[in-house]
Amino acid sequence: MRLLPLIPAAVKQLFFPHVCAGCSSDQLGQQSQICIQCLQGLHYTQFSAYVNNPVEKKFIGRVPVQKATAQFYFSKSSVLQQLVFNFKYAGNKELGIQLGRSMGTSLNEAVRFADINMLIPVPLAPKKLRKRGFNQSTILCKGISEITGWPVDDKTVQRLTANTTQTRKDRVQRWENVQGIFGISNPQPLQNKHVLLVDDVITTGATLEACAQALLTVPGLQVSIATLCYVPG
Ligand SMILES: [Zn+2]
Repeated sequence: MRLLPLIPAAVKQLFFPHVCAGCSSDQLGQQSQICIQCLQGLHYTQFSAYVNNPVEKKFIGRVPVQKATAQFYFSKSSVLQQLVFNFKYAGNKELGIQLGRSMGTSLNEAVRFADINMLIPVPLAPKKLRKRGFNQSTILCKGISEITGWPVDDKTVQRLTANTTQTRKDRVQRWENVQGIFGISNPQPLQNKHVLLVDDVITTGATLEACAQALLTVPGLQVSIATLCYVPG
């Protein structure tokens, strides 16, 4: 009698094995997408806790950002790279939510983010959104929101055109390229809010800068920034 309910789970495990998104080990809890060993292999930046951290420094003289942070250091061939691949390109959204919860926990612990009242994912270009089927930043926002309780607004900021050749350009060219690609559909709900702009990765910060510039056209709005990955250098 008691074995019967276990059969569907066993069949499910056979065809859709629950394995770690970092190393494919099956030694992990049912509720987690990442095994303990891979979790221990993630490099937390601790940036949320301190002012003038490397992410905040990136925006000095470019756009007035209240606070900025990134959750993990990113490097090639790391556990994090494998996780990001499984999240963004293999479509493991549950993994993305778990990574978002990790961001939410750090933001909650760093009391200086306590005055945030809205989460805004950086919108994807419509073509990319159709191809991927989801916006990875929106998924991260869901995880952050579960921990912090901050609502998510993924409608008001809109991406106007694609900028697909961006990775080949230097910072100055990138800025020209991303200028004017974001628009605000209805500024009213964002007036006098302190919004946290969320993206999966920060490299030069050009896309986040352009998106923040668009947001700052809303009267009384303040903007802070949080990303999942930080690429040093
Ligand atoms: Zn693992």
